[in-house]
Amino acid sequence: MEFRDLKRQYQMHKKEIDGALQEVIDGAHFISGPQVTQLEQELAAYAGVGHCITCANGTDALQLALMAWEIGAGDAVFVPDFTFFSSGEVVPLVGAVPVFVDIDRDTFNISTDSLRNAVEYVLHHTDLKPKAVVAVDLFGQPADYEALRQTAAEYGLLVLEDAAQSFGGMADGKKACSFGDISTTSFFPAKPLGCYGDGGAVFTDNEAWAERLRSLHVHGKGSDKYDNTRIGLNSRLDTMQAAVLLQKMRFFEEEVAACNRVAAKYDERLRGTVKTPVIRDGVRSSWAQYTICLRDAQEREHVMAQMKADGIPGMVYYRKPMHRQEAFAGMLCGAERCENTEYICERCLSLPMHPYMEDAEIDAVCGSVKKAVG
Ligand SMILES: *Cc1c(COP(=O)(O)O)cnc(C)c1O
Repeated sequence: MEFRDLKRQYQMHKKEIDGALQEVIDGAHFISGPQVTQLEQELAAYAGVGHCITCANGTDALQLALMAWEIGAGDAVFVPDFTFFSSGEVVPLVGAVPVFVDIDRDTFNISTDSLRNAVEYVLHHTDLKPKAVVAVDLFGQPADYEALRQTAAEYGLLVLEDAAQSFGGMADGKKACSFGDISTTSFFPAKPLGCYGDGGAVFTDNEAWAERLRSLHVHGKGSDKYDNTRIGLNSRLDTMQAAVLLQKMRFFEEEVAACNRVAAKYDERLRGTVKTPVIRDGVRSSWAQYTICLRDAQEREHVMAQMKADGIPGMVYYRKPMHRQEAFAGMLCGAERCENTEYICERCLSLPMHPYMEDAEIDAVCGSVKKAVG
């Protein structure tokens, strides 16, 4: 069994994808080909946002957003303690200081109370200027932007939505990638909308930021690429990736719906045995991961051993809080212990999840988990 079965997806859509790739090769317009512009228009329309700028990966997308806001030395950027490394990595990359914030135990997303405490700490105990919050939509579920917006407005923070895992997710009728002042996503192959290599995108309704992002991702170009008005990156989505993504957009909604059906079946079979994921009212997850919680670290080891014996892949996203990553040693700042993050890191376990899972596979996963938990 595959954790995310990309081969099955390709086999189902081989003809269209092969055709689209061959077209790029025949046209030989490998960088900034017409498929890239078309994809940006489709992604912006899908997310319901004015501007989409594609780039080389989801990490660059986050860095480009911070660069567009000219965040740097002396600035504090708030990041959930429970996320993929990139969400925090980009902050010191632009010279600012990451401040890690605890999460909500049910949704795994940033806790607004902890954010408030962290901002107050920075204001009263450091010389840093609170500038932005990276709100991660973990495992596919959009963060609670209504609550976040209030706190952000109170302290004048910009909201950067890291929607790397939530493309296709929704809250209150709006799509992921529309909730931030700037939002970003990733097209890493295993993400909800994945390409055949690295890829990413930045979204915003702000025209001036969009223009700056278009410059920043191509060497800080001015009127053309040989007129450079600022220091930027070489961070483009190539035409092959755009061609693959254009094809995948044709059946993406159906895939998100299929993942939601798989999640409902998991819920039904596992509820009462383990802690199943909590999705807030009015929210649709895009199910980058289906993550359960066990009673303690020991029970998780036991379940993982059983799954391994049964030939079922499972992954721990994430084992280590951000603030304990060695890379951030020496730049930590904040008063609070992230207790919920510590708690979740010891107990979380992500199960196989993708749109092409069959009932027999779902039954096999649940049978294995139940056997171990007893
Ligand atoms: C995958 C991921 C990223 C980075 O995306 P890449 O395309 O791999 O650079 C950033 N944030 C989160 C939450 C992610 O899951």
